[in-house]
Amino acid sequence: MDRDNLKEKLKSAPRSTGVYIMKDGAGRVIYVGKAKNLRARVRTYMDEKDARPMIPFLVPKISDIEYIMTDSEKEALLLENNLIKAHRPRYNVIFRDDKDYFSLRIDRGDPFPRLELVRRPKRDGALYFGPFSSGGAVKETLGFLQRLFPLRTCKKAEFKSRKRPCIEYEIRRCLAPCCGYIDAETYNGMVGDVVLFMEGRGKGLVADLKRRMSEAARSQRYEEAGRIRDMIGAIETTLERQKAFSMSHKDQDVFGIFREGDLTQVGILFIRKGKWMGSRSFPVIRSASDPAEIISSVLKQYYGLEMPVPDEIIVQARVEDRAVVSEWLSEKKGARVSIETPRRGKKKALADAAVRNAESVFRTLRRPEENAAENAEALARELHLKKIPRRIECIDISNIGGRMAVGSKVAFQDGAPDKSGYRHFRIRDIEGMDDYGMMLEVLRRRFAEMPNPPDLLIMDGGKGQLQVALRALKESGLSGIDVIGLAKETREFRREQASGGRPGSVKKTEDRVYIPGRKDPIYLSRRPEILRLLQMVRNEAHRFAVSYHRRLMMKRDRQSVLDEIPGIGTARKKELIGRFGDIEGILNAGIEELTKIPGITGELGRTILEYLKEANSETQSTESQTIPESE
Ligand code: SF4
Repeated sequence: MDRDNLKEKLKSAPRSTGVYIMKDGAGRVIYVGKAKNLRARVRTYMDEKDARPMIPFLVPKISDIEYIMTDSEKEALLLENNLIKAHRPRYNVIFRDDKDYFSLRIDRGDPFPRLELVRRPKRDGALYFGPFSSGGAVKETLGFLQRLFPLRTCKKAEFKSRKRPCIEYEIRRCLAPCCGYIDAETYNGMVGDVVLFMEGRGKGLVADLKRRMSEAARSQRYEEAGRIRDMIGAIETTLERQKAFSMSHKDQDVFGIFREGDLTQVGILFIRKGKWMGSRSFPVIRSASDPAEIISSVLKQYYGLEMPVPDEIIVQARVEDRAVVSEWLSEKKGARVSIETPRRGKKKALADAAVRNAESVFRTLRRPEENAAENAEALARELHLKKIPRRIECIDISNIGGRMAVGSKVAFQDGAPDKSGYRHFRIRDIEGMDDYGMMLEVLRRRFAEMPNPPDLLIMDGGKGQLQVALRALKESGLSGIDVIGLAKETREFRREQASGGRPGSVKKTEDRVYIPGRKDPIYLSRRPEILRLLQMVRNEAHRFAVSYHRRLMMKRDRQSVLDEIPGIGTARKKELIGRFGDIEGILNAGIEELTKIPGITGELGRTILEYLKEANSETQSTESQTIPESE
């Protein structure tokens, strides 16, 4: 579309509320925005009234614009968020979060709830505490709570089917509600204590425990009094360690944003009921947008990831669309959420602390970010790429002799992993050992099913893999994507006599890079920083593929546990898997459902559950080791 037509299209934009989608000449989405009045908003782009720093870069690239009208601003905000997530447009602020979050969950709707470690809170009526700043921190808290409050640790299926208490009871970590050794009311009292502690009302809990201790001592229940005394000691020690940060009894997320040039570092301090719970920082954002737009985008994208919403959000600068963002968050939380930009007082001190924290993270991380930009430029020069590869993807295939084949894709943005671009593909169409065929299937699906194509695609392999990628790209009709092959190959070097050793040759394995249209590979040993960048992406793809493959194998091995159970033959195994899907499904079904299957008696059902629980707990202990230890 030429400039005049585009101007006309902008002028005739609807006056309603909605979302506008700007595209470049190749049809790529380069910017998504929302507006109360679309016509008024998009006209500012052409009238040069918009002073945002990224406008001079964005406007010359706009070739087309589309509109989607919505019934409200809040609906427009949700749509804008989804479109940014799907297309990751080049000129929008893209917030990346490359770490996992953990929270603790307790469901008070269950008569005998347990504390669970979860990655993402759900709106299911349960109570969630967190997010914790690292896997290590949440595990430490969970361990502390389990030592102090002997709630059950087993899953529902085990809880329901238990005839005798497990080892947890023997070691006094559980009071065995499974076998009726503790009534629901007493158990619930314990759950209430956990909640008091986790809600930061530790002082109230200690006062209550002291009262209970005196009562137990007065009634000569000395063992109970001693147990409560130990609990008081442990809780008081923990409370002393928790620093009081704010006098407020609200939950607060304090956002600190530090900018230098077009780089922005975002960090959050989590304050829960006045206590500092931890902090979190994110990969540096490269954007020429103004601070108000950056803050607004970060809030929308961060809480769009289903993060726990606090009562109050504190930011150091004005938030664009504050009213609608606050309305959206209040709806998410089911209670009023305020967004504050304090000018003085204690909240201002908190905002300043968050900024200092963001600056210190930035100072520590800046070198790698700067290096990433320099390396990307050098990579483009050395390999004659069409553009600087800010977004790089790599595909890897993992299988055993052609069986259980999976493809994996990883994505790196500005030198750092972008986990939202990671994806696994179960190979569907190819059977047997056909690596090229599998690669082609994965690439076809990647280009057809996923937006946001990379600047550079790395194929793990040489000329053959490169050809496969070029074919997939041609079929997809996408242009502007560079492809290279990175192959580990062994080279033979002549050993010089002058080096003192025996004459002859030595073998050395090194990575070669294949690029389209060039017969010989390129060696990057003289540019180790560039080679390291490519290897980092390739190794991450490999790690991601292998870990997924391992999980699948583990799942398959768990299914084979059924073969070991006396009384389970092929027909019953088939019936069980057919009816309940997998081991998890059988465990969740419980004894009642199992005995509905002809031939499965109560005794056989219990045996099945015992076997599966054991296999399941072994798998879980292996999986739990994958929780990252720290930020
Ligand atoms: S004793 Fe019973 S309730 Fe407690 S963890 Fe063991 S099985 Fe679960």
